[in-house]
Order: sequence, then C-alpha cells, then structure tokens
Amino acid sequence: MKRVVLAVDLGGTNIRVAAINEHGTIKKRVQRPTLAHEGEASVLQSLLAALEEVYQDFPEKQIQGVGVGIAGAIDIEKGIITQSPNLVGFDGYPLRDKLQTSFLKHLTIMIDNDANLAAMGEKWKGAGAGVNDLICLTLGTGIGGGIIIHGKLIYGADGMAGEVGHITVDPQGPQCNCGNRGCLEALASATAIRREAIEALRKHPESELHKRCHNDPKTITAEMVYQSATAGDQMSRKIFQNMGRYLGIGIASLINILNPEMVVLDGGVSKSWDMFFPFAKQEVQERALKIPAARVKIVPAVCGDDAGLLGAAYLVFHALP
Ligand SMILES: [Zn+2]
Repeated sequence: MKRVVLAVDLGGTNIRVAAINEHGTIKKRVQRPTLAHEGEASVLQSLLAALEEVYQDFPEKQIQGVGVGIAGAIDIEKGIITQSPNLVGFDGYPLRDKLQTSFLKHLTIMIDNDANLAAMGEKWKGAGAGVNDLICLTLGTGIGGGIIIHGKLIYGADGMAGEVGHITVDPQGPQCNCGNRGCLEALASATAIRREAIEALRKHPESELHKRCHNDPKTITAEMVYQSATAGDQMSRKIFQNMGRYLGIGIASLINILNPEMVVLDGGVSKSWDMFFPFAKQEVQERALKIPAARVKIVPAVCGDDAGLLGAAYLVFHALP
C-alpha cells in the first residue's frame, strides 16, 4: 500500500486538494470555491470539506500528512499566514493550528509559499528532475519565485527568500504593490502586460488589439495581447519584447548570484514563450557572467497547475521520519 499526502492549493478563487503518492501520481482530486470574501470561518469550512472528501477515499493509515501552498508570506515554522494577496484580512491566521485541531490532528501538516512549492514540484516531477540547483519563476498576476540549492528550498531568516518578483530592474519604473518602483513584477507579470497594452492602445488605435478588445480596453488580458502579437500586431509584439528584456535583466542577476543549473519559467505568462523568450535570452547573454550563463538552461515548466500540489506532497514525504 503506497503512502499518500493530501496536497492543497489554497488559491484566491478555488481550493484544490489532491491525494498524491510517493511516485508523484495524483490518485484523486477535488476543487471547491475558496469563499475568501466570506471570511476566515467560510474558508476553513470549505478547505476542511475538500480535504475530507479526499480523505475518506483512503484507509486512515495510508494518509501521511497534509501540505498546503498559499501565495504570499508564510511563517512555515509556526504554520501562520503572515500576509497573502489572495486572502485579504487573514494576516496572522494560524492555519496549521486550525487544521491540527480538526479530523487531521494525527497528521504532519506543513504550510508553505505556493511559488516555493511550484519550484519543488518542478524539481521532483517536472522540468528540473535530477537537477539540484534551480530557480523557478512563476509569471502570473504577480511574479513568485522558489530557489532550490543543493536540492533544498532556501527560506532565509524570515522565510521570505526567493521573492524574485521584487528585484528592481528599472529604478524609474512603475509602482509595484510592494511599495518599490520598477520591480520585475511591475514590468513582466500578466498585470504589467495588461497595463502596458492599455497605455499603448491610446497611441496606436489602429492596433489589432483594438479589434480584439471590442474597443473596450478594460477587457484586455495578457492572453489577448499574446494572441494579438501572434497575429502579427507590432504594438503587442513590442510589449512582449520589453517584458522579455526586463525578465532577462532579472534572470541575469539571479544567474550571477546563484549560478543555477536551471531556471524554470512557470505560470500563465510563460505560455507566451515564443514572444518574449528570445529577448530575455539576449539580455541574459549580454549581462550575465560568461561561465554561469553558458551553463544555465532556461526552460518552460512542465507540471502546469499541478506543480504546487506536487511540491507540497514532496515536502511532506521528506519531512516524515
Ligand atoms: Zn515589488
């Protein structure tokens, strides 16, 4: 009988729970709405209901633990949500204690940042299989990051290491949610692509994107900008070109600091690979030191939305005695 871990992706919209065995095979999965706007009690109830739905399908002794991934700052030692962009008002919420007083009380329960877990998932079962030194950047609404050195995630003194989205790549750049200006996240995330597109449309009303958004810039998404770029729209291509350049500037610094074997790019924006990657690569080649730049492989993620779930399962299996 193979052991399983209940892996959780506690997102802003949905809670996903999967039972994952030691080979990284997903045996069952369920999804429920997070109900974040209804507050702590509703989120906990929804989370426990999702966990129970998976839990009841396995003999008790087969289930080894629970691993939860959440966006934002997590105190992994105390199991507390320090601050999460998806769970506003949950600052300081002792999620592990809450789970530990439920029907899960006999299990090992771990909570971690979702981008850290995605990095570990890609290392275990994805692009980084067999690689011990890698950095994973999740290019989504924001930019998350996980850094693995000698096979282990690095956390830093406050558990906040790996926040690659907040390295400055343009000192005069746009305001970031963190309070700084010109962070990588403010220039290379889906939010940044959308903002740049809305701004560029004012100067280029002839753009293909104008037709795609039916003359309503509010409906523009990063994916729409990608489709427009793929259709040959120069304005949309230029937006991805700039985004790729900033991404490359950020990655070049990471390469110089950490000398990774691999950089994995994950998240929705990474699917626009052909539009941004040549420009990112060019910046890396021009800016990073020759030896680490020649060694590093920069590749797309392969686990998709399951990377974080797999990473959560991996961490729990490896924390067990
Ligand atoms: Zn920032």
